Amino acid sequence: MIVTEEQVLKGKSLSELERFFEALGQPRFRASQAFRRINRHLAQSLDEFTEFPKALRATLADQGALPELPVVKSVLSEDGTERFVFDAGHLGRSEAVREIEAVWLVSPRRRTVCISSQVGCTLNCRFCATGTMVYRGNLETWQIVDQVYELIRRKGEAVTNVVFMGMGEPFHNYENVIRAAHILHHPEGLNLGARHITISTAGVIPSIERFIKDREPFNLAISLNHANAAERGAIMDVDRKYPLDKLLEVARRYTRTLDRKITFEYVMIPDVNMGPENAARLVKIGRSVRCKINLIPLNTNLQGWRRPTAAEIEEFQSTLLDADLPVFNRGSPGKDIDAACGMLALAGATT
Ligand code: SF4
Repeated sequence: MIVTEEQVLKGKSLSELERFFEALGQPRFRASQAFRRINRHLAQSLDEFTEFPKALRATLADQGALPELPVVKSVLSEDGTERFVFDAGHLGRSEAVREIEAVWLVSPRRRTVCISSQVGCTLNCRFCATGTMVYRGNLETWQIVDQVYELIRRKGEAVTNVVFMGMGEPFHNYENVIRAAHILHHPEGLNLGARHITISTAGVIPSIERFIKDREPFNLAISLNHANAAERGAIMDVDRKYPLDKLLEVARRYTRTLDRKITFEYVMIPDVNMGPENAARLVKIGRSVRCKINLIPLNTNLQGWRRPTAAEIEEFQSTLLDADLPVFNRGSPGKDIDAACGMLALAGATT
């Protein structure tokens, strides 16, 4: 059976489901019941809609659909991180590469799912394996939320945090990402707190402006990665279109308008963006924007760059700590299974 977008019940907002059931001549409460079944009880089949009369279930089997994102493989790290490879279906013309990845991360108080928003990415950040993939397109809303649902089912544990930091630039798939975040946040669904959902962008300024204008309640992170305006473009193509000074201006506007801190992520690359001068520049940025800074040691060697030593990391971090900035070394959970930051797509389903 060919399923149309209209028939897919997963990934629909409550109001979209209301319109769907209205078109079937059904009362509004059916939409709430369906929303709860899909997004709270994580139903895998329409047969699980047990509160629906049999006749309505038969109609739904004919006119609705509850697709699932199949897991192709999963790999568990020694540190408890687990990398899941999904088949995202027939996106793009070729069927060769259509895999996306999501990562399950554990810490004493958190169970975090890092999810993908695109198959591949057009931005080509030099330290990131996803940027080397052939870009195949945006994920649908249902394919974004289903990564979370599938990991919850497989792990048998509740999720505390969701981060849009997997494959793709989330703000190049803005509508679907924001819709997915609202579904995950919805009280009739998983009811994840808005501050437990983080959307990370490489710096797509018009989308950040839209995010501010719409007063989206979710955390915003910017993948900064260089504090020198003249050099950031050499490691991140996005900077050529949306330069660092303009990006910092909009970051300041975000913190002022929404009265929130912004998160800066900084992949540490020796001889590229570390050393005392860059640390001093980062301190200046940290003092001019209300922020938290997450440091991430380089995990790939796509450019022949090396990973920083523990001493280099400590020196860089201590400059920021001495300036009283909230700075954290996020380390490299899941590095042994190619699940750490920047590594997604490195291994795919082949290893
Ligand atoms: S870091 Fe993010 S934006 Fe940059 S290439 Fe990788 S997936 Fe794309």
